[in-house]
Amino acid sequence: MEHPLFIYNTLTRRKELFKPLCEPNVGMYVCGPTVYGDPHLGHARPAITFDVLFRYLKQLGYKVRYVRNITDVGHLEHDADEGEDKIAKKARLEQLEPMEVAQYYTNRYHAAMEALNVLPPSIEPHATGHIIEQEELVKEILANGFAYESNGSIYFDLEKYSQKYKYGTLSGRNLDEVKNASRELDGVGEKRSQVDFALWKKAQPEHIMRWPSPWGDGFPGWHCECTAMGRKYLGKKFDIHGGGMDLVFPHHECEIAQAVASQGEDMVRYWMHNNMITINGKKMGKSLGNFITLEEFFTGSHKLLEQAYGPMTVRFFILQAHYRGTVDFSNEALQAAEKAYERIMDGWHRLQGLTAGKETTVQLDNYREKCAEAMNDDLNTPTVIATLFDACRAINQANDGNGTISQADIDELKSVFQTYLFDVLGVRDNAAGGSVDLEPYRKAVDLLLEVRRNAKAAKDWATSDLIRDKLSEAGFDVKDTKDGFEWKVR
Ligand code: ZN
Repeated sequence: MEHPLFIYNTLTRRKELFKPLCEPNVGMYVCGPTVYGDPHLGHARPAITFDVLFRYLKQLGYKVRYVRNITDVGHLEHDADEGEDKIAKKARLEQLEPMEVAQYYTNRYHAAMEALNVLPPSIEPHATGHIIEQEELVKEILANGFAYESNGSIYFDLEKYSQKYKYGTLSGRNLDEVKNASRELDGVGEKRSQVDFALWKKAQPEHIMRWPSPWGDGFPGWHCECTAMGRKYLGKKFDIHGGGMDLVFPHHECEIAQAVASQGEDMVRYWMHNNMITINGKKMGKSLGNFITLEEFFTGSHKLLEQAYGPMTVRFFILQAHYRGTVDFSNEALQAAEKAYERIMDGWHRLQGLTAGKETTVQLDNYREKCAEAMNDDLNTPTVIATLFDACRAINQANDGNGTISQADIDELKSVFQTYLFDVLGVRDNAAGGSVDLEPYRKAVDLLLEVRRNAKAAKDWATSDLIRDKLSEAGFDVKDTKDGFEWKVR
């Protein structure tokens, strides 16, 4: 498979030629959601970023095994060794089984991802379903001398690890910096150093999420699950590990330390991270009152939102920025994205109805090559979108009668849109109606507009206006064009 796909590797801090370890197979692991609350904007960006990578790798002909986990134990408010588990806490307060809480939010997450047209991963392992694998990992690290037991908990010995290996390669932090920045209070008196992180935590008597282990009843530290599950499903060495930039430290740094401490080397070839999302220039946070769930976006029910924004507007907006750049959500920006999405869809719909000319007289570019070049340059989705807008201009020109496009070029344009807009970017045509076949409805509207055209030709203005007004009332926008009409659902 010869192609020049370059991706930015967070570890080496440069774009590298993507070369899988075992062509044509690609192993890809992305940190999934912690299922203790409703899916929000922060979930959308990594999901969409790595969905596009997943789609593109498949488009290039790779066989991709995409693993995205569900964190349903171990991930606490600030760090893996602090306080009570969020799911357990919610379960206690609402008198539910912890698994009831996790399942409820997992279902909500799946529904939101489907709305955003994010493909399901190949494997979606749950942390609670892999306690044995995590215990095995802890045992290996203990046997290699990079962890110690203290009062029923197991901690990673960072001091000892740093004597043999370099810690902080991914985040660029060294151990002293981490020590100075650490405000870690939990485990004080148990840990040899405040920077040591928990691999296994002893369960207090009131703790409901607990499993037996050689060290007594407890639960795994958050960082263990990705190392254990990545290795189980993708092997000791795999191609891509992704996630949000907020996971670089400490989560991914700890994952690297765990992998190296257990097997002598990191599991991952390319580390990839998407940048974060801000809302009106501010970080999103519950305490800031700008924490917006995806459902609130889709229904427009949050006080900061002037209107509802459909899933495709959100997806299109995220793809209009490069994944390593920041994205700021504001009503103005979302409204612009909504219009841009509609404009590109208008171009696609006009292309369907375009009458082929004998030859092409409008100026066309090599859109396919430009889209491929952009994707191969570290997934430059904004350039792909800009290229498709160029194609739309040519389509509109022909549609307005200022030139023609040959059948062969129309077919090529259709294929470029299908490949890049729908298959790779994963944009969905809202007017396509999902599982409902809209073809009969379309024919009925076309028929009504034919009747109106005849009425106009016969100067029967009353009938003509009646059809137009009633269609408008029913939610259709009708536009008269040079040789007929155009319509769409508002
Ligand atoms: Zn993870």
